[in-house]
Amino acid sequence: MSLSKVIQPGSTIGIIGGGQLGRMMALAAKHAGFKIAVVEPSPYSPAGQVADEEIIAPYDDKDALLKLASVSDVITYEFENVDYEALKWLTEKAYVPQGAELIKITQDRILEKQALTDAGVEVAPYAVIRNEEDLNREMEHIGFPSVLKTSRGGYDGKGQFVLRGTKDAKEAISLLKNGPCVLEAWVPFEKEISVIMTRGMNGDLECFPVGENIHVNNILHETIVPARVSENVVEDAEQLAGKIAEHLNLVGTLAVEMFLTKDEKIYVNELAPRPHNSGHYSIEACNISQFGQHIRAVCGWPLMKSRLLEQAVMVNVLGQHVEGVIGQIQQQPDWNVHFYGKEEAKVNRKMGHITILTADMDKTLEELRVNEVWK
Ligand code: AMP
Repeated sequence: MSLSKVIQPGSTIGIIGGGQLGRMMALAAKHAGFKIAVVEPSPYSPAGQVADEEIIAPYDDKDALLKLASVSDVITYEFENVDYEALKWLTEKAYVPQGAELIKITQDRILEKQALTDAGVEVAPYAVIRNEEDLNREMEHIGFPSVLKTSRGGYDGKGQFVLRGTKDAKEAISLLKNGPCVLEAWVPFEKEISVIMTRGMNGDLECFPVGENIHVNNILHETIVPARVSENVVEDAEQLAGKIAEHLNLVGTLAVEMFLTKDEKIYVNELAPRPHNSGHYSIEACNISQFGQHIRAVCGWPLMKSRLLEQAVMVNVLGQHVEGVIGQIQQQPDWNVHFYGKEEAKVNRKMGHITILTADMDKTLEELRVNEVWK
């Protein structure tokens, strides 16, 4: 089922996962007249709301996946925690041009770091930690500060423990309950940047402008585009994202998160095998969005040459920001307001985002900094 096909408007794209990434993928696909089917356990999900068909079931439910296959001309996914075995099984039954291997690699930090190293890019010095002895031995090599991360299932800083000295090992060790971990040297980064890359079915690569990411409490807060870095850094970041995409035989959109140090060294932090929060700016700021480009890739269309139309800043709207943002809509005509249709505005839940196109980045950033919504 892996021979490439061209999927035409009017066909149905199946998406595994019903979150906001699936929703924005679906909306981009709808521009070109595709129909959408979504598998997601919760009804009326962000993607389900804009889909033609919602299949309410767990992501690894084989009957549901077969149903998705029966209504879809091509299948993609919107997040990396799709069950690998189920996806692999689905690749035998349906047209899944991205395959399943990238999911296997990116849902496991140990495999991901190995793949990055094999691709010839640098990651922070690390060691695989399977038990207490490993931790006691390796923390001396890696040094302090360092960070212990669960190999699977962590996101937005969850499943991580920072070690500042040997005395922290006792507490950190509890992470091993969740399975193997990696111990990583702390990178004294100056900036966090990301590159969103799309690779077409024919191997063509298109790169979105490098974004500069500001995190608050380990959750992405702002992406500033273009990143305020030198030309050399842009070139290096794009080049290494390209290397990774080639090495992984990518089809579709991939996000590469990186740490940039003062002396302009780049370490790759992690990969997301899908459109990414730090690429949302592309919806308004580029001639093609990360979602549109992803759809083109999985449908076997030629990728569009991507261009930044204007500088932009994207700000996340978490549960605690919703009321404030809605209260300011009347005073903020320049805000491109996105809400994902989630009902419950829980603290730190990603509810939406705002993108502002600006000719004066410093002024816009200062206005956001003093805005009471994000205080
Ligand atoms: P992650 O879930 O791996 O993306 O980590 C979440 C955040 O923790 C990152 O965006 C960084 O701000 C910080 N972080 C994680 N690993 C490191 C590291 N090795 N060195 C410095 N900061 C880190």
